[in-house]
Amino acid sequence: MTRPAFGGNIMATIECPNHRPQMSTVRPGVFSVPCADYEREGIVERFNVDIKEEDIKVKIEEIVKSMKEKIDITEADIIVSGGRGVGSREGFTLLKELADILGGIVAGSRAAVDSGWIEKDRQVGQTGKTVRPKLYIACGISGAIQHLAGMQESEYIVAINKDSDAPIMAVADLAIVGDLFKVVPELIKEIRAYRQSCEVM
Ligand SMILES: Cc1cc2nc3c(=O)[nH]c(=O)nc-3n(C[C@H](O)[C@H](O)[C@H](O)COP(=O)(O)OP(=O)(O)OC[C@H]3O[C@@H](n4cnc5c(N)ncnc54)[C@H](O)[C@@H]3O)c2cc1C
Repeated sequence: MTRPAFGGNIMATIECPNHRPQMSTVRPGVFSVPCADYEREGIVERFNVDIKEEDIKVKIEEIVKSMKEKIDITEADIIVSGGRGVGSREGFTLLKELADILGGIVAGSRAAVDSGWIEKDRQVGQTGKTVRPKLYIACGISGAIQHLAGMQESEYIVAINKDSDAPIMAVADLAIVGDLFKVVPELIKEIRAYRQSCEVM
């Protein structure tokens, strides 16, 4: 197994040669979900469990539903993700525009979350969520190992970065070297023009 160790600064390979069975847990998004095989059958064993009220240590007093709209980035097919290079909360409105036009959602790196530009439940990476969308567009994200751990299994990765040597460029299927504030508006313009030309046809 491979897992983060020493505060996430290294990825350790763990070997368990001596004992079986072994059990590990993985976070959602780490593996792609296979299609259901309805031919398979399991054996259901029913146990009658005698639990008395005094055995239950947890008591639900009240359920308070969050008023905030919950977004699950692990479910998204298209993610437009921003990092420190986005520079501000306002900068994320540009990414939102791109995400909206593509039918995707916005996410971010930990640097963006720590700066308060985007909510924590949208953080991608080792201490955020693991995603594997069809398209991941990383804008102004350097590609630290902790970020890559959460997105490198995406089907198609586009990276937009001023620095051609940023590690994200090495994992990207399409690496665009440039200022995201010039590249993203151009992308939006091109996608709009393409959509309009399709409507005309
Ligand atoms: C235990 C631990 C857990 C962590 N967990 C996570 C995690 O879950 N997720 C996560 O993301 N990080 C995590 N980190 C932090 C991680 O190490 C990095 O610090 C973080 O990912 C950096 O975020 P960033 O790429 O947005 O910022 P930076 O590394 O600062 O990169 C910013 C990038 O933007 C580019 N840029 C700047 N301006 C522009 C522009 N105008 N146009 C285009 N490009 C531009 C720069 O060239 C640079 O490459 C963790 C760290 C530790 C130690």
